[in-house]
Formats: sequence, C-alpha cells, structure tokens
Amino acid sequence: MPERDPAGLQRTRRSRGTEADPEALIAAARNGSPRALARLISLVENASAELRRVMKVIAPISGHAHIVGLTGSPGVGKSTVAGALIRIYRDSGLRVSVLAVDPSSPFTGGALLGDRVRMQDHATDEHVFIRSMASRGHLGGLSWATPQAVRILDAAGFDIVLIETVGVGQAEVEIASLADCALVVVAPGLGDSIQAAKAGILEIADIFAVNKSDRPGAQEVVRDLRTMLAMASYGAGDWKPPIVCTTAATGGGISDLASAIAKHRRWLTGSGQLDVRRRARAREEISAIAIGALRQRMGDLPGESRLDELAGRVAAGELDPYSAADELISG
Ligand code: GDP
Repeated sequence: MPERDPAGLQRTRRSRGTEADPEALIAAARNGSPRALARLISLVENASAELRRVMKVIAPISGHAHIVGLTGSPGVGKSTVAGALIRIYRDSGLRVSVLAVDPSSPFTGGALLGDRVRMQDHATDEHVFIRSMASRGHLGGLSWATPQAVRILDAAGFDIVLIETVGVGQAEVEIASLADCALVVVAPGLGDSIQAAKAGILEIADIFAVNKSDRPGAQEVVRDLRTMLAMASYGAGDWKPPIVCTTAATGGGISDLASAIAKHRRWLTGSGQLDVRRRARAREEISAIAIGALRQRMGDLPGESRLDELAGRVAAGELDPYSAADELISG
C-alpha cells in the first residue's frame, strides 16, 4: 500500500506509483489528459505526500467550476440523472466531470456509480471525465479527500463538477455540503422523502428532483416535499428549494433541472452566498487537514503506539492525564 500522509506534513519521499512530477501532471490534466487527471485523483485516494505540492500549484488556478452535489438513496436514479445532465451541459459546450463517492464503503474502489454503463455513453467524449473515488479508510475519510479531488477537477478546467454520493447518512450530508448546490434526488416507491428528512438531507437541499415521475406515486412525493418545505421558514432573500419533476430515463424534465441549477447559481452569486459557502468549506477543509496532522503528531493512528504508551502510563498512575496530553501535543 502506498505511503500515507494525510496532512502531507512530514514525509517528502515520493509515494510508490506517483513518480511523475505534480506540475507536469497538472499541466497535462489542464490540456485534457484523462490519464494525468486519474493519477492526480489517485494521489488523493492514497493520501500521497505529493498532494502538498499539487494543492500549492492549483490554488491560484481553481475556483471557477460550479460544484453540484447529487445525492439520494440507491436506485432513485442518480446516475441516470447525472448522465442526462452531462448531455445537456455538453450540448451547451461545457466540460463536465463526475466524482462518484461512496461514504458507506471505504474500501470500494471498483464498480462504483461512475463506472456504470449508463455513464459510458460519454466514455469517448474528451470533455467528460467520470471517476469513482474510494477513501481507503484513510484518516479524515471522504470529507478530507473529496474537496481535494474537487479542487483538482476544478483546476483541470471543468465548468461543472458533479459529486455523486450514494446512501443516506451523515457522511452523505457532509459530502453534499461540499458542493455549491446540493441536489437531492428522490423517487416514488422508495419511501425516500421520509428517509431523507430523517438524515437531515432536507436542511441542506437546494433543489429537489423527483425522478421517475413517469411512475405512480410521483405526485405524492411532490406533495410530501411541499408539505415539508411549507413547514420551514424562509426570509425574504432566502433561497427556497424548488421541486423539479424528472424522468431521467428519457431525459424528461432534465432541462428544467439544469435551469434550476443555473438559477440557484445566479442567486448564490447575487446574494454573496457563494463566497459564504466557499469560505465555510475552506474552514472545514483546513480543520480536516490540521486535525489529521495533529492526530498524526499525537501518534493517534493505527500502528502507532505513542498514545497507547501514554495511556498505559496514565492508567498505571505513573503520569497524570494533563501532563500526558501536554506531552502528546508537544509532539
Ligand atoms: P442510482 O442508484 O440512484 O444511481 O440509480 P440509477 O441511475 O442506477 O437508476 C436505477 C434504476 O432506475 C435503473 O434501472 C434506471 O434505468 C431506472 N430509472 C432511472 N431514471 C428513471 C426514470 O425516470 N423512470 C423510470 N421508470 N426508471 C428510471
């Protein structure tokens, strides 16, 4: 397994399999090389020490992409919606990338959402890049890795970055909050609106897509969502999440969805919320890296015994816990 250095602080040695110079990889990715891009994302997956340099180089050239989080229970049609959105964006000449992440299974690296056949419609289009990402259970997990992968895609010049997540849970809420726009996909017959409400997805949703609107029960889902939204209070300038009905399988309603995303983007820019959100995300990102670095310094990592050793001394009464904590922090 490649060397891990979540904080990128200590080791300067190159990770195995990442011999190419980060600057050269970034330049190649910006010139449209999917291979270079894939290697850069792998650096994130493997928590490579090279990430420090990569992030330094891309900092001034990122921040242009619109980041759309796509979330919802398995089977609601997220991949199909993503595929249909890609088509619409490509028709207007935009470059699109999809990052598919699965917060519930850190060890999946194989056939995740992004690799699915539906999306392969776009496999030969050089302006579309689709990649699934595993966290490999490294420190900080997906909330550490996702923003960095998104930064790379952004710096590579994609206009739209779709982050697709699977499952409903806290991790998913966290990942959806990494986007400029959180798109929640629900569908009839899956009890989704209720599930979504429980997981706190409703609070972070900017747009709802009721997919499979060709199926019975779609109107009930719309009604349930309306009822829930009616209970929330919105101020005069607040964004009120629209509900868009889609039949992604045939492309129905997808242009309305793209319009809703564009409208939300105009609101974000006009209200100053884009900046607020990006700052909030940067805070999270910095914290995740700093906490990772601290934990590493503390020896609070599998296979490192520093914390264990101090715990043993505290348990045996040889050391008080404050002195132990001081020792831990001082590294
Ligand atoms: P995901 O797990 O949320 O990514 O869902 P998928 O995109 O894999 O879709 C799950 C299933 O629903 C697939 O068999 C799709 O063909 C089907 N599906 C997707 N969109 C629609 C739709 O609008 N109407 C109907 N009837 N089926 C759909």
